[in-house]
Amino acid sequence: MTSSSRIHQRLRLQSAALEAATNSIVITSSDGVIEWVNPAFTELTGYTLDEAVGRSPGDLLKSGSQGPEYYERLWNTILNGQVWRGEITNRRKDGSLYTEVQTVSPVFDDDGNITNFITIKQDVTENRELQARLQQQAWYDELTGLPNRQLLGDRLEQVLRTAKRRHRTIALLYCGIDRIKMVNTTFGFEAGNAVLQAAAGRLRGHVRDMDTVARVGGDEFAILLPEVANAEDAGLVAERILEAFTQPLNISTDANAQPQTLSLSVSLGLSVFPGDTVAGTKLIQHAAEAMYSAKEEGRNQYRFFTHELTSRAQQRLALYNDLRQAINGEQFDLAYQPIFVANSPRMVGFEALLRWDRTGHGRVSPDTFVPMLEETLMIVPVGKWVLREACARLRSLRDAGYSSPSMAINVSKHQIADTEFVNTVERALTDFGLAPRDLTLEITESGLMSNVEGHTATLKALRELGVRISIDDFGTGYSSLSYLKQLPLDELKIDRSFVQDIPGDDQDEAIVRMILSLAHILDLTVVAEGVETQDQRAFLEQEGCDQIQGFLLRRPLEADDLEGFLGSPTP
Ligand code: C2E
Ligand code: MG
Ligand code: MG
Repeated sequence: MTSSSRIHQRLRLQSAALEAATNSIVITSSDGVIEWVNPAFTELTGYTLDEAVGRSPGDLLKSGSQGPEYYERLWNTILNGQVWRGEITNRRKDGSLYTEVQTVSPVFDDDGNITNFITIKQDVTENRELQARLQQQAWYDELTGLPNRQLLGDRLEQVLRTAKRRHRTIALLYCGIDRIKMVNTTFGFEAGNAVLQAAAGRLRGHVRDMDTVARVGGDEFAILLPEVANAEDAGLVAERILEAFTQPLNISTDANAQPQTLSLSVSLGLSVFPGDTVAGTKLIQHAAEAMYSAKEEGRNQYRFFTHELTSRAQQRLALYNDLRQAINGEQFDLAYQPIFVANSPRMVGFEALLRWDRTGHGRVSPDTFVPMLEETLMIVPVGKWVLREACARLRSLRDAGYSSPSMAINVSKHQIADTEFVNTVERALTDFGLAPRDLTLEITESGLMSNVEGHTATLKALRELGVRISIDDFGTGYSSLSYLKQLPLDELKIDRSFVQDIPGDDQDEAIVRMILSLAHILDLTVVAEGVETQDQRAFLEQEGCDQIQGFLLRRPLEADDLEGFLGSPTP
C-alpha cells in the first residue's frame, strides 16, 4: 500500500463524518486534482461527486473574478506547507456566482511530503451582499438629504406589495424644476444647489409624512404617494405643489450674503397604480414621461401619464380649475322654483337653485359641480354668495310690492360646520331687511346625519334666530326617529326618487305614507319634490302632503321671469 493510498483509506473512513458537514469540503491530490467532494459541495455548486472527481477546482469553478496572482499566492502558500485562507468568488454549474471563504490545508504523509489538500469552503454570498448594500449607504442624496432613487425604488416595491394586497391606489409624482440650467449659468452652481435644497424643503412641506419625496436626478424629484383615493386626488396634490411654487424660493449661497429670492416653477408628471401600469415598477418612468410632456407643453403645469385613465380625472380637474375661476368671475346665478300649497293654487315661495354658465359648456346642472364644490370646500364661499343673492332677490321682489313669497336656500353641511355661518345668515337678513321667517334653509338628510351632534347646535342657533329649517332629500339618508325628535326642524322634503314611482310602486307608496305620518306626528311640514304628473300630485294630496314642488307645476324660473310669474303686485 502506497502512502498515498493509506491516506486515501484514512480519508474514506473520515468521509462519513465529512459527509454530514454543512460546509463544502473538497479533497484534492497534491497536484490539485479532485478526489472527493462532500454533499454540501454538490448542493452549493451543483456538481456531483462523479462530475467533480478528476477535475481541478480551478477549471471547475473559476469565475474569472480573481486574477492569476490569487492562484499564484494560494499555491505558493500551500506548497510551502502552510494553510491558505482566502475569499474567492466562484461560478456554480448553473453559471451563477457565489462568494466563499476557503481554507486549504495540506495533508502530509509520515515523511512530511504533501499528499493531499483539504479545502473547507464557507459560502458567504449573503453576508457579502448585505455588506455591499450597507457600504452603498448611498440611500440618501447628500445635497438635499432626501432619499435617492434607490431608496425610492425600494419603498415603491414595498408600497406596491401592500397596494396589491389591499387594493389601494398609489400615485407617483415626478417633478422637474423649470429652467434650473438658467440658474446655474446665470448665478453659478452654488445657487443652483441652493435652489435644489430650497425646492426639496418646499416639496417636503407640501406632502404628508407618509409620502416619500426623493431626489432622483439633477433637478428632478419624485414623490411617492402610497395611498390616494383616486387619480383626481393625486391631481390635487399636484395642484398644491404648483401653487406652492408660486411663492419665490429663499436661497442663500454664502453665509454672509443676504439671502436672495428666486421665482421658479415646476413641471409635474403623474402616474397611478393600478391603471397606468400593471408592472408597478413602470410607475416612475411613466410619471417622468408625463412630466416631460408637461414641460414640452409650456411648463408650470402637470400632466397625467395616459389619457384614458385620466380623461375623467382630467375632466374633473378641468372642472376644478373652471370652478375656481367661476368663483372669481360672475359665472354663477340662481334659478327659482316655486313651491305650492297642496290642493290649492297658492304659492308659498321659491327654492333658489344654483346655476353656472360654464365657459364652453353652457349652463351646467348643479349635480355635476356641487359635489366638487363640497369636496373642495369651495361651497362655503359659493353658498354664502347664494344666500346673499337669494336674499337680495327677495328684497327686490318685496320692493316691487310682492309681499308673499318666502325663499328656500340649499345649504351644505360644510356651511353649517363653519363657525361663521349663523352670523352670515344674520347679516344677510339685516342687510336686506328680511324677517327670519322669510328664509328656509334646506340641508340634505345625509349632510345632516354626517355630523348630527355638531350640526344640531348650529341649527338650534338658526332656529332661535327664527329661520326655518328643512331636511332635503328626505328618505335617502338614515335618520332615526329619535334624531328627528331632537333636531330643531320645521320641514321635510320627500326625495324625488320616492315620488317618481307613485302611485303604483307599493313600497314607495308605503314609504311616502310613513314619512307623512311620521312628519305630522313631529309637527313638521312635508314638501314633495319632483312632482311631474297629475297622478303623483293626486296621490300626495290625498295622503295629506302639505306642499308640492315639481315640473308639473313649474320648472325653475330665471330671475328675470319672477315678476312676470308673480303677476301684478298685491295691492
Ligand atoms: P334639491 O335641493 O333637491 O333641488 C331640487 C332639484 O330637483 C333641482 O335640481 C330642481 O331643478 C329639480 N327638480 C325640481 N322639480 C323637478 C321635477 O319635477 N322633476 C325633476 N326631474 N327634477 C326636478 P337642480 O337645480 O339641478 O339641483 C340639484 C341639486 O343641487 C339640488 O337638489 C341641491 O341638492 C343642489 N343645489 C342646488 N343649488 C344649490 C345651492 O345653492 N347650494 C347647495 N349646497 N346645493 C345646491
Ligand atoms: Mg333643495
Ligand atoms: Mg331635494
